[in-house]
Amino acid sequence: MSSEYEAAGRRSRGQGPWKDVPAACWDDWRWQLSHRIVSAEQAGTLMELTPSERDFFARANGRLPLSVTPHFFDRIDPADPADPLRRQVFPRAWQLETAADEKSDPLGEERDSPVPALVHRYPDRVLLLANSVCASHCRFCTRERFVAGTPPDWRQALDYIRAHGEIRDVLISGGDPLLLGDEKLAGLLEKLRGIAHVEFIRIGSRVPIFLPQRITPALVGIFKKYGPLYLSLHVNHPRELSPETASALEQLAFAGTVFGSQTVLLRGVNDDAALLKKLFHRLLQLRVRPYYLYACDKVPGSAGWRVPVARGIELMRSLRGWTSGYALPQFVIDLPDGGGKVPVGSDYLQEIADGGICRLRNFRGNDYFY
Ligand SMILES: *Cc1c(COP(=O)(O)O)cnc(C)c1O
Repeated sequence: MSSEYEAAGRRSRGQGPWKDVPAACWDDWRWQLSHRIVSAEQAGTLMELTPSERDFFARANGRLPLSVTPHFFDRIDPADPADPLRRQVFPRAWQLETAADEKSDPLGEERDSPVPALVHRYPDRVLLLANSVCASHCRFCTRERFVAGTPPDWRQALDYIRAHGEIRDVLISGGDPLLLGDEKLAGLLEKLRGIAHVEFIRIGSRVPIFLPQRITPALVGIFKKYGPLYLSLHVNHPRELSPETASALEQLAFAGTVFGSQTVLLRGVNDDAALLKKLFHRLLQLRVRPYYLYACDKVPGSAGWRVPVARGIELMRSLRGWTSGYALPQFVIDLPDGGGKVPVGSDYLQEIADGGICRLRNFRGNDYFY
């Protein structure tokens, strides 16, 4: 990665393959979607594919298809085969090898799904899978089994939520809910707001990263009308935070949206303390509170992404105390087979002695008693 490239933060579109595209097209999310890079041939005209990327495409039978918006592609350094943004969306041959403990439904969501498009695992909250499409495809997708499949029908899910008074929190995910049309999204939010026991609505999305053009005044109006809404952004690298993303988030913030972020710890993308710190700092500047740092789920072909859990703990430990507490997400593992999310922490609490005296280790490695 050249330092000038990092400094500029992006390739200028003026020098890129889309230099003659009028702004009215480039800034239109429908143009971005219909001009996605979806084949190896097309990608090959934009940059030189590595042998491993070409090998994947030659044997990719049945795997999640390539899909990258021009906006996101424009942030990739085409001269760097190891570019951390490129690696997230362009597959490699090793991803075709499935390890024994990897599953297409790694979190056991199907078993906790009482009706289609709904996962009810925790007592007071549900996950609503409202859409099966995404703006671009992540190569470590937890829902590869679901994405690019048939669009979900959430009518039974809404009936289920209505019938279960204990559900106070609905997390709308997918796929990407912000790729529902305005009317569909507004209709869904209208129905959820009509259920008295639903107090808290959050939306999980990567659209502000892959397709910030989708954050139109009309969509911002929907956020305002049905707020307060929490938006959980999936962000893995600071360079994903484009000026367009920043301005989309600002519009949503002015409409009252509250932001959190989710980051997947990925080898070769963000398994570096200085880089994570930069990412979390940048998120705070954009009003986004880092929420979770995830160990990579055991989806098929994901072994090469995985960072040892001990390393994840060490990375978080190297940040705690050395920067704002607000900048630090919780490092969690979403357990296989429906175990749910558990925090994995460094043991600051060294021991609890008789009489409840605690021995604690601080961020500098010194012990104290409480
Ligand atoms: C992650 C998740 C939630 C939300 O969990 P929080 O820890 O409250 O953010 C809810 N349901 C399912 C099935 C999930 O995977």
